[in-house]
Amino acid sequence: MASLVKKFGGTSVGTVERIQAVAKKLAKAKEAGDDQVVVVSAMSGETNRLVAMAKEVMPATVDVRELDVLLSTGEQVTIALLCMALKTLGCDARSYTGAQVRILTDSSHSKARIVSIDTDKITTDLEKGRIVVVAGFQGVDAEGDITTLGRGGSDTSAVALAAALGSDECQIFTDVDGVYTTDPRVESKARRLDRITFEEMLEMASLGSKVLQIRAVEFAGKYNVPLRVLSSFEEGEGTLITTDDEENEMEQALVSGIAFNRDEAQITITNIADQPGTAYSILGPIADLNVEVDMIVQNAGVDGTTDFTFTVHRDEYQRVLDFLVARQKELGAATVTGNDQIVKVSIVGVGMRSHAGIASRMFRALSEKGINLRMITTSEIKISVVIDEDYLELGVRSLHDEFGLADAAVTEA
Ligand code: ASP
Ligand code: MG
Repeated sequence: MASLVKKFGGTSVGTVERIQAVAKKLAKAKEAGDDQVVVVSAMSGETNRLVAMAKEVMPATVDVRELDVLLSTGEQVTIALLCMALKTLGCDARSYTGAQVRILTDSSHSKARIVSIDTDKITTDLEKGRIVVVAGFQGVDAEGDITTLGRGGSDTSAVALAAALGSDECQIFTDVDGVYTTDPRVESKARRLDRITFEEMLEMASLGSKVLQIRAVEFAGKYNVPLRVLSSFEEGEGTLITTDDEENEMEQALVSGIAFNRDEAQITITNIADQPGTAYSILGPIADLNVEVDMIVQNAGVDGTTDFTFTVHRDEYQRVLDFLVARQKELGAATVTGNDQIVKVSIVGVGMRSHAGIASRMFRALSEKGINLRMITTSEIKISVVIDEDYLELGVRSLHDEFGLADAAVTEA
């Protein structure tokens, strides 16, 4: 018997038939003896539909308090329908909105943070043999105002509930059957990972692998809640995301996955003075524009000058480029140029910590395909390169081969 929090996303509850299918799945697990707390999203497309209506009514500024009252209704629909479907199958079940449970949050509407969760009602229901169904993505602040946690926030609701309840596992049911070594649309040999660490998952997620909300992974790591990503539609073990300790021996892979990001653009400033304050004089005003900078590389200075390259989101590219071109004289730069036809490709793995030579293997594999590396950055468990976007598929596939990611997992000792 396990105590589980199970979260079903918008696609999994996207129609009445699908809600009924989820109910069947839960009823079956109930028979097997599981204690289940279920978190659901709104039906797919519903939150977007509500946002669009709000924008129609308030085109200029949106009232965030009222927006949260509106957006929280999407999840209220699915908790009620799921409980009805469960009761039809003879399962006792009870639905709660975030406020009814008392998922207490701060008052930052549309991006609220969870402060505490009252588990009394839930544990009482579980003791009575009920399945408890909680609306994801929402809470209530100290004033009693409804809040929402930010788009995709139901993942965070589920993890927070699992942490508060001390559940054995938080299971995220979605339209993919786990976390893959890379995007199967780019490399058909991509393999589902049995396990991955929180740290690796965070890197994969922040690099554009969109299976889980980043905040939910952070939360799970912080409170050490084992997270599992599984398919709503097929049977399977999914991918377990957990800590890398002896108890949970990881597959001893050097590289666990390859992530990529097509949303960045690169800007390069040449021949600027190699002196204190130069990087700040470039990036300070960009931060003031509220633009997030991702990779940053500065060359070692030669003859008192240096070159500086960084990346920003493609949506901000033109604005930042124009801004810097206008400041070229002031910066004393020889050239200010940019390129938005680039992608960032990264290899991720905790195995990098204990093994040398991984970077050179990565660079050789790419060079053998004639791929030019425009930028390189590294962190403890990740190496990223910027390459021309035309080489994305080739680059990802050659790295996938190089690190043997298509091969079945090394069996645990
Ligand atoms: N329904 C919300 C959204 O679409 C929350 C979620 O699905 O996680 O963002
Ligand atoms: Mg979602």
